Amino acid sequence: MPDKVVYSSDPRFCAACGRSPCVCADRTKRPKQPEPVRVSFARNAKGSGVTRIERLIMHPRLKEELLSKLKRRLGCGGTVSDGTLELQGDHRDFVEGELEKEGYRVRRVGG
Ligand SMILES: [Zn+2]
Repeated sequence: MPDKVVYSSDPRFCAACGRSPCVCADRTKRPKQPEPVRVSFARNAKGSGVTRIERLIMHPRLKEELLSKLKRRLGCGGTVSDGTLELQGDHRDFVEGELEKEGYRVRRVGG
């Protein structure tokens, strides 16, 4: 019964899309992004840096899957921190292209 009212006590309830079961993986049903996904790059003290993907509304498990896919494709490290995907190195072009292929609007921010 996907359209009945659901509660957060429902283990299949997803806070990202507000549905049970989660529809984040379904391109036609997934939650609308109220604003573009933000892609940024920041150097850290060591001189390398990290590419961040913020404001992506997606189930945490799917974020982990997306991160794994990007890490595999790029051969870099990365993590999900506070809902933000972080990849080691400057991968803004690649990430932006991948997200746009998935139908997301992307805004590049910062340096
Ligand atoms: Zn969801």
